[in-house]
Amino acid sequence: MSFSSTSGAAGSVSLSQRLQSVMEALAATSTQADVLPVVLRPARQAVGAVAAAIWLVDDAGEQLKRAAAEGQTLQQDGPLDASLPAGEALKRREGLFFEHQGALVQAHPESEVRTGQVTAVATAVLPMFLDGQPLGTLVLDFQEPHHFTEAEIRFLRTLAAQCAVALGRARLSQALEERIATGTAQLDEERASLDAFTHFTEASAHTTEPLALAALAQEVLETILGVEVAYSELEDGLWKGRIFSKNTPPELVAYAQAGFAAKLPSFAQPFETNEAVFVERWDAEREGAELTEVYGAAALYPYLKQGKPYGLLTMGLTGIPTWTERQRGIFRSVGRNLALAFERAEQARHQAVQNAELDARTRALEGYAHLTQDLALQGEPLAFVRRAQEVVLSLLTPGYALYYERDGERWRNQVQVGNVGNLELQAFIDAGPLVGQTPSVDVPWTTQVPHYQDEYARGSDTPPEMVQHVTTVASLPVLRYGVVAGVFIAVLFDERKWTSTDKVVLETVVRSLGLALERAEQAGELQRRTEQLERSNAELEQFAYIASHDLQAPIRTVTSFAGMIERRYQEVLDDRGRLYLKQIMKGGEHMKRLVDDLLTFSRVHTEQREFGPVNARATFETVTQRLKAEAPEAVLTGTALPMVWADAVQLDQLLQNLISNGLKYRRAGLTPQVRVSAQWEGQMWRFAVADNGIGIEPQYFERIFVIFQRLHGQETYQGTGIGLAVCKKIVERHGGHIWLESTLDEGTTFFFTLPGLKR
Ligand code: ADP
Repeated sequence: MSFSSTSGAAGSVSLSQRLQSVMEALAATSTQADVLPVVLRPARQAVGAVAAAIWLVDDAGEQLKRAAAEGQTLQQDGPLDASLPAGEALKRREGLFFEHQGALVQAHPESEVRTGQVTAVATAVLPMFLDGQPLGTLVLDFQEPHHFTEAEIRFLRTLAAQCAVALGRARLSQALEERIATGTAQLDEERASLDAFTHFTEASAHTTEPLALAALAQEVLETILGVEVAYSELEDGLWKGRIFSKNTPPELVAYAQAGFAAKLPSFAQPFETNEAVFVERWDAEREGAELTEVYGAAALYPYLKQGKPYGLLTMGLTGIPTWTERQRGIFRSVGRNLALAFERAEQARHQAVQNAELDARTRALEGYAHLTQDLALQGEPLAFVRRAQEVVLSLLTPGYALYYERDGERWRNQVQVGNVGNLELQAFIDAGPLVGQTPSVDVPWTTQVPHYQDEYARGSDTPPEMVQHVTTVASLPVLRYGVVAGVFIAVLFDERKWTSTDKVVLETVVRSLGLALERAEQAGELQRRTEQLERSNAELEQFAYIASHDLQAPIRTVTSFAGMIERRYQEVLDDRGRLYLKQIMKGGEHMKRLVDDLLTFSRVHTEQREFGPVNARATFETVTQRLKAEAPEAVLTGTALPMVWADAVQLDQLLQNLISNGLKYRRAGLTPQVRVSAQWEGQMWRFAVADNGIGIEPQYFERIFVIFQRLHGQETYQGTGIGLAVCKKIVERHGGHIWLESTLDEGTTFFFTLPGLKR
């Protein structure tokens, strides 16, 4: 089985896996020289770039200098200027993506003039910041035009941000080393901060749980700064505290858990600027935040999810009214680290949901395919419904499934799997709920879209006391040729919401069910038609047999008595009498031919022999010997005639009919020629019987194979119109086809196919 969406998802899985391994590798780096290759190699490989490089802003903050490159990059060092791509990316604080030749120069005409550099075909420029200040850029060059997918853009953005964090950490660590070298103080404290950072980076690579990540950030801040830290989430317009420091007073914890109004100025401000906010000389009353008067200063870091406020990291200083630069720097840096961890976690979760949906769909389809493969196509349609119910229930939690079809004013439950868990409810279902008073069935029936109830509206369909145990209901329309055929209901006993994965399972199975029902209907119709046709064919054969068989005796009587009259009473009859007698004898002979041919026709099926290897060459010889006796002047040739797998007697009949027609329908004044040949065609032998006779007009190509259909009167060409009908029956009994090509006044070629082995 294959799904078109698989490849896309697999692509982004590998991107997030790459990200994961970069994260792990970065956790082990300690210097700038370690960090850069860890970022560059995967960046380049992941998007198929010809080069990846990192430029860093110099100490003066004026120039961008290349720090490392992977592959041959065309970009060069240059000034930090907003008219150039790197400068613009840093100014706008977002990545720039140039997808095809000339796009970069068009957007930044100065880049070539000012720097004299040649640009790549496609380029991505991602800005990096440290503590809010421009740090540098990550640049990718492509030799071919490149379309940046959303997953790639997310990947590169995250990578650049992680790189910045790692560089920041490396710088910190370098500063530390320098201090060790000069033997300055604060060593232990810095060591502790570094450890805490490292711990955060490492630990955050292993969890995607937002609160666990927030707890890590809290731990880091407490360790480094010795402050009180809290993390809150927005719920119904309130910031509700979720994580607190151990020494936060219990009454404040309780108060914060109940929630601070999100519109309070200090709480709203970080979301206006999207940056850390430091409030000095905290005034609890002015802030409207009761019980916070113990704090002299507060800091807040905002978190957004899909552009909306989501989380808030706060720290407070008891008694002291101001923040030092160091405290601010560390808060910003931890805050940003947490933001990145959230982003990555969100991405991983998103990926996990997508994978789960894909998985669920695969399981649903496989389950259904597996369960229905043993069901006969023309089988009972409701058997397909039952299989669908079984599959759905096997993939969901305990419950039951129903399938309603409409019957006048009532819904009839046609198939049920599982116990509904209440006798009265079962009786109610069996009695047939009323159309128009049963929303769970009415709604999907009329809207044609699935109807999911996370909390079942008890009492809407049935008296509420019958359904106290029912909590979760899904009802889906089953569409057959775009029309609702029934409503598929799945009911769960446990309290839960329908997840996107559940919905995928249900919708996939129900859609497959609709298709299976359509197919079953078609197959049933085909089966009915075939049976009808077979019946009327058999009846016809039976009739032909009886008629021809029973007619033989009276015909024989007529012709033999007519013969006797002719012999004995010739003289007694006058001319007119003799003419009449001649007509009787002619009619009798024709009747005898008809009856004989009809018998042959009816015997194609009733008197058949086993198939075996037959030499078509030998059969051709036998037939032509026979025909030569009647038409010695004819030219009959057979070329490349193979062994076939056939009923020998019928192959003789087939060739006899076709060749004799070729001789019979000859053109006046021309030596009749019939050429028989064969050619291997893929699976079968294709024979051709070609004559140089009168030809047939195309409008009769089909009709001549029908029994009794003739194109000429008895005076011109004698015949019964049965020969080709016999040929068709014989060929079809062998699994082949018969057809013709013909040109009037030139000749006709009959083709037929027969099974056999390639020479
Ligand atoms: P019959 O030959 O007894 O009439 P057939 O079933 O063999 O019956 O053929 C049906 C009709 O097809 C013939 O009446 C004739 O008009 C036409 N036909 C068959 N074979 C040829 C042929 N080789 N060339 C031209 N017409 C043909």
